[in-house]
Amino acid sequence: MDLSTELTYLKGVGPHRAAMLATKGLQTVEDLLQYIPFRYEDRSNVKTIAQLAPGEMATVIAQVRAAKASGFRRRDLGMFEAVFADASSAVLVGKWFHGQYLSRVLEPGQRVALFGKIEFDSFTGELSVLHPEFEILSEEDEDGEAALHVGRLVPIYEAAQKVHTRLLRTLMYRLLNQLKPVEDPLPRAVRERLKLADRWTALREVHFPPAESDPRVLNAFRSRAHFRLIFEEFFWLECGLALKRNQARSVPGIAFELSGRARERIKTMLPFKPTGAQKRVLGEIARDMAAPRPMSRLLQGDVGSGKTIVAAEAAVIAIENGYQAAVLAPTEILAQQHYFYWKQLMGPLGYVTVMLTGSFTSREKTQLKKLIAEGLAHVVIGTHALLEKDVEFQKLGLAVIDEQHRFGVLQRLGLARKGQHPDILVMTATPIPRTLALTLYGDLDVSVIDELPPGRKPVKTRQVTADRVEQVYSFLKTQIDAGRQAYVVYPVIEDSETQAMKAAEKMYQHLSREVFPDLTVALLHGRLPAAEKEAAMEAFKQGRTQVLVSTTVIEVGVDVPNATVMVIEQAERFGLAQLHQLRGRVGRGADQSYCILVTERLNDTARERIRTLVDSNDGFAIAEMDLRLRGPGEFFGTRQSGLPALEIANVIRDKEILEAARREAVDFIASPPSEEEGRRAVAYLRDHWQRRYGLVQVG
Ligand code: ADP
Ligand code: MG
Repeated sequence: MDLSTELTYLKGVGPHRAAMLATKGLQTVEDLLQYIPFRYEDRSNVKTIAQLAPGEMATVIAQVRAAKASGFRRRDLGMFEAVFADASSAVLVGKWFHGQYLSRVLEPGQRVALFGKIEFDSFTGELSVLHPEFEILSEEDEDGEAALHVGRLVPIYEAAQKVHTRLLRTLMYRLLNQLKPVEDPLPRAVRERLKLADRWTALREVHFPPAESDPRVLNAFRSRAHFRLIFEEFFWLECGLALKRNQARSVPGIAFELSGRARERIKTMLPFKPTGAQKRVLGEIARDMAAPRPMSRLLQGDVGSGKTIVAAEAAVIAIENGYQAAVLAPTEILAQQHYFYWKQLMGPLGYVTVMLTGSFTSREKTQLKKLIAEGLAHVVIGTHALLEKDVEFQKLGLAVIDEQHRFGVLQRLGLARKGQHPDILVMTATPIPRTLALTLYGDLDVSVIDELPPGRKPVKTRQVTADRVEQVYSFLKTQIDAGRQAYVVYPVIEDSETQAMKAAEKMYQHLSREVFPDLTVALLHGRLPAAEKEAAMEAFKQGRTQVLVSTTVIEVGVDVPNATVMVIEQAERFGLAQLHQLRGRVGRGADQSYCILVTERLNDTARERIRTLVDSNDGFAIAEMDLRLRGPGEFFGTRQSGLPALEIANVIRDKEILEAARREAVDFIASPPSEEEGRRAVAYLRDHWQRRYGLVQVG
């Protein structure tokens, strides 16, 4: 037996259980060894029932005497009770609310390990324990392994269907006893520098911690065994990313020239003085563009931090070198916004900006495509329509992708393929911590605009319950009377844009006829024909419309500095990032702006989201909270970001270890201690990485 042995050949497994284990992705011995406990229970201090004291957390080994759904009075709660007894001849009652299912699990005669908080019921005079953790111990000690499950620090595993923690524990124990110590693939220099436990020791200790271990440290995943295994997983991930990055950088790209004329033109274009952060970031981009390899850079910056102008500066460099620039936006509305913005900037320089989206007629499209193919259009703004096969550029030099989180890796590449290794700039207003960004977007370099343009006042954010919405409307009215404009937004629920549209439409009728009969109110939603959307946006921009009722189509990109009120209805239905984006539509001018979150029914996480938003205006802090509340998988969809699923490590909980691993990996790949060690690492990566993550091409 070795690491690659299929689990079905293990004693006690067989095809049936192997299939259950496979549902957790466990196929080989190595997979199983990596399946670490999600928790540890200290059963070293097992007490007899007679020794128990109310208030303590304790483990008891006892026998089930009786088990039943309990009496008439409590039937509504589905209370299930089991009576336990041991040799001390005292009795302990376990209680579970909604525990009917246990009648098929707990039966008189079974020996059980129970763990929980002991209480004394003064009414009945019983010792009891509510919702204890429990584990059924086999009736007899079949193979002398009973000592595994009690009287020590015990690992608790997530069940793989019917393969429960107890069986998993036994399997782990047998494996660790039968296997020869595994080799340590981590480079020796790294191991020594960080004083890491060797792999075999770490694997043994993570499953069966030494007796003197502190259970709190174990449960925080911070034992030396945990540290080592988490580090290792991150280290290989980061090595893989570094290699992938090197590969991407090794293809020839365009070396743009940063002529004095280009600098001059950039200066002419800028309508304002760039912030320090914008200057720094342009420097980073310009350096990439001048280098003879393709740029792949992620530009992170909070809503309204001024990313677009930096992209426009980069476009000027490309155009002055005789190339075209493309801007890919996720929605029609955003493309429209970009089109207006870029046209204003580019027009005075004599550059032609065009827009291509799905809503043009095929005749219009044909004409636009011709302009693009002949190089007469310098800047091409568009939606997914840009990615269609027959859109050909004469000479694409720079591809800008806005709001990265809406596009997959493939689409990014799709745009890049329209040129000969053009430079790529990806912009996102969903900023995440730097190391995490470097990992999630493995092949991208990261720039950050961490400064807002001067004179911006932070938006004031309030939560108001729906029964007080009249007050919100009268506040809105005072702002309009002072010459400002306002948004009122409705959520799109699940896939039902139609429903949201109906809600918005109904509210539009209500607001325009009953609440604000004297104001100009307009409606905007995703189902309107493009021309009407455009007209609605234009009217709002020019101030002809005072209140814009909308679905989330305005989430990104809309830029109307005179709008100072953002009312979000049913705010509990929106995600945190989305709320922050919506709020970013106001606070774009010199006047104080307000965001009002109208809520109906709040559950705990919704309340947390709303509180975060009320308390903070900082996009980075909000994104980090979002990441915490939703977990990394959902936050960025593993599939989209290309981040492989991690087995032991967790990018949030283990942030510091990720940083250490990244540093070591980058150094190691850049200059391995010896050629032999470098080769060994790449070979190891190829063997393990490919199988575990599938996605990444290495070496
Ligand atoms: P983002 O795309 O990062 O959300 P935008 O690029 O849309 O932000 O910029 C937001 C607004 O701020 C725009 O109206 C833009 O013209 C303006 N702006 C950007 N940079 C500056 C600056 N340095 N000084 C003043 N205004 C700026
Ligand atoms: Mg933007």
